[in-house]
Amino acid sequence: MSDDGSDDASSSRRPLHVFFDVDYTILGGYDGSLRPHTVEVFERLRDDGHHVYVWSGEGERWPVVRTHRLEHLVSGVYGKPLHDYRERLEMFKVPVVPDFVIDDYPGIVRCFGGMHVPEYFGGRSPLRGETAPEDTVFHDVYDAIALLARGDTPAHPRYYPGEGSGAAIPRR
Ligand SMILES: [Mg+2]
Repeated sequence: MSDDGSDDASSSRRPLHVFFDVDYTILGGYDGSLRPHTVEVFERLRDDGHHVYVWSGEGERWPVVRTHRLEHLVSGVYGKPLHDYRERLEMFKVPVVPDFVIDDYPGIVRCFGGMHVPEYFGGRSPLRGETAPEDTVFHDVYDAIALLARGDTPAHPRYYPGEGSGAAIPRR
């Protein structure tokens, strides 16, 4: 990939480091169930050559990853900085700078770039009525990542390009 922005023909796909939050993002805050389409989207991202990570402000959530059989789909499980995100990656031994962050909290998404998703409470949450539509936000997440990897800018209203030197900033 070149630095001059003329890489659109040579790199139809750019591997991205994709970081998913745990509570209220992939995991229902009320019942601990996995958000619909989590496994499917992790598989599709891996199959596309991206690297999927799970991180949490509560620390390394290996029990969640193991309970839901995600180990073979993730490249790492880490604690997540809750402030000074970029500066504190090293403290949490995160070996790469996230390209795309999926979180129900917007601050870290604005920092690295990614998608600020609505909180997921769970399939049996009292806040989720029987007539609630199926949660398909992870399909939007996948589509945004695929677009970004092709060098396009996602138009989704919950997408943030990131600030600083994150790779999620579209090249000019
Ligand atoms: Mg969360």
